[in-house]
Amino acid sequence: MNNVTIVGGGPVGSLLALLLAKQGRHVTVYERRDDPRTTTPERGRSINLALAARGLRALAAADALTALQPLMTAMPGRILHDENGQTRFMPYGQHPEEINWSISRAEISRALVTLAGKQEGVSLHFNQRCLNIDPDSGTLQFHDQRRGIEHTVHAGTIIAADGAGSAVRGALEQRQSCQSTEDLLAHDYKELSIPARADGSHCMDPHGLHIWPRGEFMCIALPNADGTFTATLFMPRSGPVSFDSLRDAAAVRAFFTAQFPDLLALVPDLETQFAEHPQGGLATLHCWPWHTGNTLLIGDAAHAIVPFHGQGLNCGFEDCLLLDRLLAQHETAAAAFREYESARRLDTDAIAQMALENYLEMRDTVRRSDYALRRELALELERRYPRQFVPRYSMVMFHPEISYSEALHRGQTQERVLDALIAEGVSAASERAAVLIRDAGL
Ligand SMILES: Cc1cc2nc3c(=O)[nH]c(=O)nc-3n(C[C@H](O)[C@H](O)[C@H](O)COP(=O)(O)OP(=O)(O)OC[C@H]3O[C@@H](n4cnc5c(N)ncnc54)[C@H](O)[C@@H]3O)c2cc1C
Repeated sequence: MNNVTIVGGGPVGSLLALLLAKQGRHVTVYERRDDPRTTTPERGRSINLALAARGLRALAAADALTALQPLMTAMPGRILHDENGQTRFMPYGQHPEEINWSISRAEISRALVTLAGKQEGVSLHFNQRCLNIDPDSGTLQFHDQRRGIEHTVHAGTIIAADGAGSAVRGALEQRQSCQSTEDLLAHDYKELSIPARADGSHCMDPHGLHIWPRGEFMCIALPNADGTFTATLFMPRSGPVSFDSLRDAAAVRAFFTAQFPDLLALVPDLETQFAEHPQGGLATLHCWPWHTGNTLLIGDAAHAIVPFHGQGLNCGFEDCLLLDRLLAQHETAAAAFREYESARRLDTDAIAQMALENYLEMRDTVRRSDYALRRELALELERRYPRQFVPRYSMVMFHPEISYSEALHRGQTQERVLDALIAEGVSAASERAAVLIRDAGL
């Protein structure tokens, strides 16, 4: 298992290549797209994304953080926009390091491929679309898109990081080596670009994730380092207020005028962008098992989730860290893959659930007055009992030492403590709070 073949040179595949090569392995990566170091990348599934502590920890382990830091914009909190365009800043946490970072998807891919390309032991092949896999013989079939020919690679240990639509997973399913289902959300998304001011500066505060929560739907915007923002509208596919209901330019303008007047003022070509940009679907992928013999699925190929906790890539990067450690500990790839699968499954299930739950919080709960009170109570409990009580959002985003499954479990227990304190009308400073926390086993 000194030779590893990775299918998919996206962020997860590239980071894994870096980590494994730093352990002295020979890693060959096959990627279907052009080399991002020499071409303008094709439009991905999202223009920018939020990196948090789990992703940063994995990047640091691969010595990749220094190269990425100049590309990252700090987002210390949410900036909520109401229907009148009034804004309110809500910090994500209460410690200076509790920050999420916005980064361009294209830049992160380019930076990781660049680092992987410089790393001894990594060999990168672009324009190679994987068509099929035979896990028994460890062979992969590719279409070389430049030369227009098909060829076979004898790989041995294979790790598939080819994303949510994984061709490797599809081929394994055909051979009944794994099964997958996709829970499609009834809500879709569409991205819109908010231009920079004429002097290149941001036209809104760049230090936050902007949210326009509207109950059944929402818009968000993340800053880009070049002065632009990428906004994303999430809303039902069909129904009275839905993508289906925004059939023409007039309907789009009327909708934005009523719901997001301040955002409308920042997107002069709204109708054109709305008509031209694709409408994307969102799903949670359940796949099992992830490994067969010497072949493993990782990242979105194994467990794509909805984007509402900003954790899909962070989770994929955390996969890489765990897998790297287990491959170093085990004699065979199959043994490492087996342990990886059983250690990781509970956590990826947990983040899938929390990502779905966070949609309701972002689009609806966050704008309610009782949400602010509950949140203040949670933060006060954290100040008084920092080891026992950490808000669930903070556990997921800022505490990589707490697993996703533990965050889910502790979060549920903490909710019961908050419910009791609110029902009884007692403060975080009360003796009752100490008793509740102790009795809950926190
Ligand atoms: C709207 C939206 C917003 C998001 N926001 C966030 C966020 O804020 N924070 C976060 O952490 N995550 C976010 N995510 C999730 C994140 O984008 C994914 O989890 C992440 O990109 C997964 O990385 P990956 O490398 O596993 O897969 P991908 O990024 O999908 O990369 C797969 C790679 O494999 C290649 N490939 C595909 N098929 C083949 C083939 N047959 N042969 C060879 N190569 C192939 C592709 O070209 C690609 O380079 C968001 C997702 C969406 C849709």
